[in-house]
Amino acid sequence: MISSCNRKWSHIHFSPALLAVSLLATILLPARPAGAVVWSTLFTAQDVRDHLSTEQGRQEALEFCRKMGITKVYIESFRDGYQAAEATLKAARDFFRQAGLTVSGCVTTTGIGKHSTGWQVAACYTHRQNQERLESIFRFTAALFDEIMIDDFFFTDCECSECAAAKGALSWQQYRDKLMMQISRERVIGPAHAVNPNVKVIIKFPQWYEDFQKRGYVPDQEAAIFDRIWVGTELRNPSSDEWGHKQQYEGYFIYRWLTDVGGSKTGGGWFDPFGTTPTLYLDQPLTTILAGAPEVFLFHYGALTSPDYQAQAEAMAARRVQYEKLAPFVSGWTGIPTYKPVSSDPGEEAYVLDEIGMLGIPEAPTAHFPEGARAAILTTQALGDAELVPKLLHLLAARGTAFISQPLAHRLNGDPRLPTPSPLDLDKDQDVKTMEVGGGKLVVFSDALPHLTHVDGQNRVEQLTPELRTALEELRRKVSDFTVTSLDAPPRVAVYPLGGRVAVVNYTELPVDCRLTGLAGMAHKLTQLYALDGAKLAPDGATLRLPPHAALVVE
Ligand SMILES: [Zn+2]
Repeated sequence: MISSCNRKWSHIHFSPALLAVSLLATILLPARPAGAVVWSTLFTAQDVRDHLSTEQGRQEALEFCRKMGITKVYIESFRDGYQAAEATLKAARDFFRQAGLTVSGCVTTTGIGKHSTGWQVAACYTHRQNQERLESIFRFTAALFDEIMIDDFFFTDCECSECAAAKGALSWQQYRDKLMMQISRERVIGPAHAVNPNVKVIIKFPQWYEDFQKRGYVPDQEAAIFDRIWVGTELRNPSSDEWGHKQQYEGYFIYRWLTDVGGSKTGGGWFDPFGTTPTLYLDQPLTTILAGAPEVFLFHYGALTSPDYQAQAEAMAARRVQYEKLAPFVSGWTGIPTYKPVSSDPGEEAYVLDEIGMLGIPEAPTAHFPEGARAAILTTQALGDAELVPKLLHLLAARGTAFISQPLAHRLNGDPRLPTPSPLDLDKDQDVKTMEVGGGKLVVFSDALPHLTHVDGQNRVEQLTPELRTALEELRRKVSDFTVTSLDAPPRVAVYPLGGRVAVVNYTELPVDCRLTGLAGMAHKLTQLYALDGAKLAPDGATLRLPPHAALVVE
């Protein structure tokens, strides 16, 4: 084996063609050891003006980067109608490069001209002057940087008279999808590559993945034409009405789902300190790294050094090394395939997939129907696939199990293609129902179960009634035929199977003791591999002891 390796390497040294291939690989592959984390931050266009225009400001910014372990910076040329001065951008770029940091550019497409009639931060992209302004911003930026991130305001929900005329007989969704693809090609990627053939343009997707279809985000088509994609893994205080009661699992779900869409183009995760406490802020690096992001992007310098969010940055700096130690254990993501087609509408089940993950039910998010899988989790979103029922029948015929949410069961009821022995709808006061259909099993679960993870405006979760406790255990028992879970963990404890390892995170505000099940009996002889914030495996080798917001990795 050693001699064959030597032969292979000597070929690379002597063949010009292979030398070119190896150089290309060196350029394309991330220059980091497996499992390492690159920390990065952004200087918004306003940060560039306010903090990077003097030598002293640049030195202070560099000190911040050193303290946070940041080795890559994004220097933004445009945001909110303001374009940073070329001389300042160049001085900042060269300063950070000389200090040994990797430097990229960024553009935020807010305030470019005529607003969208919907969300004011977005633009009307039918409007020709807006298109021309957009192109000029990307031409300007591509001349300065070899990589350009686009922040997640690159969408439209405009219904102005120009848009209405241009859409003709198309639906708004069809028109916006077509328009955003067209301007991406003709006003962003094309002009940027024309100015700088080496430039890589990254599209960052917002964390609000259930609304992409309303605003012209088409992740599969955009991933195909952009050089890279990025993932918004922002989490918020789950009790916040303002932020929509977000679940921490969302950061994991969207990262894995967009990785299924974008494959190796998926470059990293991005989060900010807004709507968090220092404790909740730290759920973001933890969840983003568990999801597999090789680069963690901390938005943004001006906020993280402001009095409002300094505490978040201090907390992050104090824990950074612990997160870096977690990364080598993170690979081999598994769980029950959980299907959300691209552009699917969630109906009344928006973000239910995050809630299911918060029940300790591990998901393997996918934008493609999991053909050949032994089990799948299906919710209203799956109806975005017009071929759902035939595909489901195929899964059942292969003795598969489909976990079906109550709202989806209701919509599937009475479909002659899916004959069931009794109605799919749950009976009154019934929370889990299993029926044999087409050679496999359908497990219908009540929406009362995912709702157990909901945190209300007073920071309370619903009490587990004996009935719901029994139903949750029954659902988890069925899940344990296919993946690892916990029968006794309360809601808001997430289980992340990682190859032969399992990470467990306690997102509740109370200490939790729990056990794992579903590792084919192996769960009784666990070994602790990694612990964060005082988590530990009890001497019995089976009980996981997790303080609030703590994490444990076992095998
Ligand atoms: Zn318009």
